[in-house]
Amino acid sequence: MGNIQGDFFSAKFLSTSNSIPVTDTNEKFFGLYNVANTCYINSVLQALYYCIPFRDKVLEYQPNPDCSENVLTALRDLFNQIHNHKNRQGYINPKKFVAQLKREYPVFDNYNQQDAQEMLNFLLNRISEILRAELSEDSDDSSSGSHKDPAPLTWVQEIFQGTLTNETKCLTCETVKSKDEDFIDISVDIEQNTSITACLNDFSSSETLTGTCKLNCEECGGKTEGTKRLRVKSYPSTLALHLKRFKFDELLLRHTKLGYRIVFPKELRLTTKEEEAGGEGQIYELFSVVVHCGPSPNQGHYVTVAKTLMGFWLVYDDDRITAIDPNTSFETYFGRSSDHQKTNDQCGYLLFYQHKVGGFVGSCQERDKSKEKSKLPQGRTNSFDQPKVST
Ligand SMILES: [Zn+2]
Repeated sequence: MGNIQGDFFSAKFLSTSNSIPVTDTNEKFFGLYNVANTCYINSVLQALYYCIPFRDKVLEYQPNPDCSENVLTALRDLFNQIHNHKNRQGYINPKKFVAQLKREYPVFDNYNQQDAQEMLNFLLNRISEILRAELSEDSDDSSSGSHKDPAPLTWVQEIFQGTLTNETKCLTCETVKSKDEDFIDISVDIEQNTSITACLNDFSSSETLTGTCKLNCEECGGKTEGTKRLRVKSYPSTLALHLKRFKFDELLLRHTKLGYRIVFPKELRLTTKEEEAGGEGQIYELFSVVVHCGPSPNQGHYVTVAKTLMGFWLVYDDDRITAIDPNTSFETYFGRSSDHQKTNDQCGYLLFYQHKVGGFVGSCQERDKSKEKSKLPQGRTNSFDQPKVST
C-alpha cells in the first residue's frame, strides 16, 4: 500500500509540510517496501527499530561462527542496512528478512495479511530462543560440572520481560496461592471510551471462579468457588502493550475488530503490586505505536507512529514516511468514540513504552529512595497467555 513513485529525495517530497525535519543527529529514516501484504511485518520492525536498547543489541550482534542464517542475522543485516546507509532517508526492501521469517514461521508463509501482535510475539520469542541456544552452547563449553546455575537471561528478556503474579483464593478455606509467570507483552481486554490505564486496572481486577471454572483446592480436596487475580510483579524496561481489538465473533465465525476509543498518554505512570500500597509509581514514555486501520486482522493495514531521537514523531506507512506535528495528541489513533462514527478506523494496537530512568512519581524522599532501584527487577518463570520465552 502506498508505494512511493519516483525519487524519494525529490524537492517535492522535502517541500511538503509533512517532510522529515532537519536534524543534527546521524539518525536515519527508512521506510520498508511492502513485499506482499507485509505491512504487519514492516510495522513491527519499525516499532522495534525505535526501541533503542533493542536496536543497539541487534546491531552489535555477533553470531557464533558456525551459525547458519536465521531471523536474528537477517534482522541484524536489515538494521545495519538502515543504520549504515549513506543517505539520511529513503526506503529499503526487506525481502531477505521476510523470506527468512517465513522459512522459520510457516504460519506466515503465504500472501495473507497477518496479526502484528503474533508477528511481534513470534519474533521476540524466536530471537530469545536463538540467544538461549548460544548461551547454553557457551556454558557447555566452559563448564563440565554437574551443578546447574539458573539460566542467564537473554537480552530480549532483559529488555522486554516482566513478571506477573497469578493469585488464586479459595472462598471456602481462604487459602491464597500465587504463581509467577513471565510475559514479554501484556494483552489487555478493552472497553469502549476508556484509557490504557483503565484497561491495565481491569487486567488486575479479580475474577470469580465458579460454575465450570471452579478452583481445584488441595486443602478442601476438590473443586471450590474461588477468585483469581493477575497482577504485575515487575514491569520490564520496555513495555509492549497489546490491545485486544480482534475478537472472535461466534455468529460470523470470524475475527472482527473492536474500533473502541482507547486513550493512551505519551507518559504513563505504572504501579506494580508491591508499590500499590506506597503509591509510588514508575514513569514510562511512549516511543512507538503500531496502528491498525481497517475492519479485521486479515483485512486492512498497519502503520507505525514512532518517536525519533530528536523528539519529533514520524508515521511509517511501509515505504512512505511523514512527519506529524510535535505537539499533536494521538487522538487520531485512539479509535472511534462510538460505533456509529465510522470515519476513523485508525486504532492504536500495540503500544511501546520505555521506562524513564529516574522518572518516579511521589515525594522527593521517595524519589531519592527510588534512585537506587531505578533499574527494574527481572523475573523468570513461565509465560502468560502467549507463546513463551523459553527459560
Ligand atoms: Zn479450599
